[in-house]
Amino acid sequence: MVNVVVHGHEPTLSEMIVAASQTPEIIEYAKAAGAKGVSLSGICCTANEILMRQGIPAAGNFLQQELAILTGAVEAMVVDVQCIMQALVDLASNFHTQVITTSPKVKIKGATHIEFDEHRALTIAKDILKHAIDNFKNRGDTQIPDVREDLIPGFSHEYINYMLGGTYRASFRPLNDAIISGRIRGVAAIVGCNNPRSQHDYLHTVVTKELLKQDVLVVQTGCGAIASAKLGLLLGEAGLDQVGPGLREVCETVGIPPVLHMGSCVDNTRILTVLTQVVDEGGLGEDIDEVPAVGLAPEWMSEKALSIATYCVASGAYVIFGGASPVSGMPDKMSDSDIVLRYISEGWEELYGGKLEFIADPQAMIDKTLEHIDAKRAALGLPEYDPARFGRSGDDRMRELETLPLAERQAALYGTPGK
Ligand code: SF4
Repeated sequence: MVNVVVHGHEPTLSEMIVAASQTPEIIEYAKAAGAKGVSLSGICCTANEILMRQGIPAAGNFLQQELAILTGAVEAMVVDVQCIMQALVDLASNFHTQVITTSPKVKIKGATHIEFDEHRALTIAKDILKHAIDNFKNRGDTQIPDVREDLIPGFSHEYINYMLGGTYRASFRPLNDAIISGRIRGVAAIVGCNNPRSQHDYLHTVVTKELLKQDVLVVQTGCGAIASAKLGLLLGEAGLDQVGPGLREVCETVGIPPVLHMGSCVDNTRILTVLTQVVDEGGLGEDIDEVPAVGLAPEWMSEKALSIATYCVASGAYVIFGGASPVSGMPDKMSDSDIVLRYISEGWEELYGGKLEFIADPQAMIDKTLEHIDAKRAALGLPEYDPARFGRSGDDRMRELETLPLAERQAALYGTPGK
C-alpha cells in the first residue's frame, strides 16, 4: 500500500483526503504504480478527527510523528497547522518520505507545498495523493514495529446521549443516576498534549489509571486519548479489570469502555456540552461548577491548551494543568506572579465557579481531583463515595460461580428447591 500520514488539526483537509483515497481514480493510479491502494493513518488531532468520523487508524500521538517517518514506509506526510515539528523535513530527507505542507500559515523550507483550497477540495486532495503514489517507487528498506492496539472511538455528546437510552429514550439520566448513587464517583476529562519535558504518555496514563480505580469515569480527547488507547483502556471488556467496582458495573451494563474517546483537542467544547446536558438532566446542580467533575491536561504544552483551559474555567470547570506553571515566579518570594496565580484560582472561582491550577506531581493531581469531586458531591448532598457499597461486578460473580459444582451453582443462582 502507498502509506500516507495526515497530521495536524484541520478536519476539512483530512476528510477530503479520506474521500479521495477511496475513489476509483486514485485506486487505479496506485495500482498502476505497483501498489494495492492507498493506506491512510493519522498523527495528532487530525488522527482523532478521522478516527472518530471515518474509522481511519491512528499512527500515534504528538511525540510519535517522527517515529512514523522512521519506519521508512511513509510515502507522504501531509501536514496543516499546529504541532508540526519544524525538523520533520530534515528527518524525512534521510528517507524517501515527502512532507507536504498545505496551509498558507505553515510553510517549511524543503517541504513540498500544495495549498489547500476548500473550493477545489477534492481535486487538491487527489493531487496530494498522486504525489504520494508517484513517490512509492522510491521506497527503500522499511522497519514497521508490530505493535498495535484495538480501540473503540467516537463517543460524541450525541452518541453518549443515544447510547444511554437508545432511540426512544436517549437521555443522560442513567449517567446522572450512577453519579448520584455513587457507583460513579465523578467524571474527569483528561485531555490534551504530549509534552517532551515528561516521559511520553506517562502523566496521562498514571493519572487515568488511578482515577479509574477510584470509580471516576474518564472522557478523553487529543493526544491523551491515544495514550489511553495504547493501554487498551478504550476497549469495552478488556479495560474493565482495571477499574473500580461501581464504574465497572455501569460500563458492563451500558456496554461502554471506562474511558470514552470524544475526539480531537478541538472537541473539548463538546465535553462542556456533555456537562451542560448533565446539568439539564437534573439532580447534579444548577450549573457546571456544581457537577462533581474535573478537567485535567497533565502534559499540556501548546498555547491553545491554555485558551481551552480558560474557556472551560469561564464555564465553571475546575481545571488542573500538569508541568510547570508559566506564570509562577521565584519560589519563596511574594511577587506579581503569586497575585496572578491566586487570581486564576481563587479569583476566577469567585467570579465563574471554575479555577485553573498548575500541579506538577501526578499524585497531587489525583488527590486534588478526588478532593474536588468529593467536595462537590457533599455540596449536592449526595452519599459519600464508598466502593464497598457496590460490591463486585456481575462478571466476577459469574466467574466465581463457574468454579462451583452444578448443584451448588444452581442453588446459588436460583435458591434451593423447596426453600
Ligand atoms: S492534543 Fe496538543 S499535542 Fe496533541 S495534537 Fe492537540 S494540540 Fe497537538
